[in-house]
Amino acid sequence: MFRSIFIALSESKSLRSFAERSRIGRRLSSRFVAGMTVDEALTATAAINRLGMAVSIDNLGENVTNTDEARESAALYHELLDEIAERKLNANVSMKLTHMGLDVDEKLSREITDELVAHAARRQSFVRVDMEGSPYTQKTLDVVRELHRCDGNASHVGAVIQSYLYRSEADVNALCAERIRIRLCKGAYKEPPEIAFQKKEDVNANFVKLMKILLKSGTYHGIATHDPKMIDATIAFAKAEKIASDKFEFQMLYGIRRDLQVKLVKEGWRMRVYIPFGTEWYPYLMRRLAERPANAIFILKNVLRR
Ligand SMILES: Cc1cc2nc3c(=O)[nH]c(=O)nc-3n(C[C@H](O)[C@H](O)[C@H](O)COP(=O)(O)OP(=O)(O)OC[C@H]3O[C@@H](n4cnc5c(N)ncnc54)[C@H](O)[C@@H]3O)c2cc1C
Repeated sequence: MFRSIFIALSESKSLRSFAERSRIGRRLSSRFVAGMTVDEALTATAAINRLGMAVSIDNLGENVTNTDEARESAALYHELLDEIAERKLNANVSMKLTHMGLDVDEKLSREITDELVAHAARRQSFVRVDMEGSPYTQKTLDVVRELHRCDGNASHVGAVIQSYLYRSEADVNALCAERIRIRLCKGAYKEPPEIAFQKKEDVNANFVKLMKILLKSGTYHGIATHDPKMIDATIAFAKAEKIASDKFEFQMLYGIRRDLQVKLVKEGWRMRVYIPFGTEWYPYLMRRLAERPANAIFILKNVLRR
């Protein structure tokens, strides 16, 4: 029930507008969002790097409604790629196609993403194209495939697969055949039973199944989860199959299970922390609360304590 409430709240335009402008809203978000500016995101990145972890930086934003906004979003990612290189940070970027104008002008969003990946290639970096709700699944995978095929791009762009979708096994096999790097996650949107598993145990079973395909594929993939059961299953499989710890990485979100992030690094596993930043934090925070409503109490306690 709580999951549905927070997912519904994530779509409320009026609440979003109020929350993103208010000081209290910004304070509420600070546990999971690393600040509002590029500089704050880069400072957080440097701190995570010092803990022995890599980073993927995400400028929060989705579903822009005009081409100027799309171009502005892209400019900020270009700045990020340059700053990451200049400051010699161990980081890449994650972005959403609807932030680059997919809803407004599909051709433009492809051109923008193409330029970003070309820039990442020049900077020896990497662009992870996040996966959004199911209306965008096919388009997103098509874009990643197209970009991956362009000369010089192959090791600089990757996709995301959600284990709650029935189609994901076929997608994983197709992407692996093209040696496209994948981030595997459970999926953060509300999807109908016609296309997605509804029970946690089914989503988890599919996650484990897909994780095994990824680890055996020989391409460097990301296993993105905070779920100790998924992490244990991944470690057990890697050990049983003698897959070295530098052949894949775990990924977790900024501010979530920091204890587990540190523990895994100490045990010799690779960890990449996804660092979101920017003023458009509201839908992101609501999706995190949908995953774990207990975090709402935790965040409120933190704000009251300050
Ligand atoms: C690096 C990264 C990138 C992602 N990119 C995408 C994407 O592109 N598209 C997309 O749809 N989704 C994305 N997600 C979100 C993902 O799909 C899940 O919604 C999210 O990770 C929660 O699932 P979980 O695997 O952590 O386990 P869950 O089943 O949600 O939780 C299992 C256990 O994990 C722990 N846990 C989970 N969440 C929290 C929390 N907030 N606080 C404390 N403990 C927690 C708890 O112990 C919980 O019992 C991404 C997640 C990560 C980590």
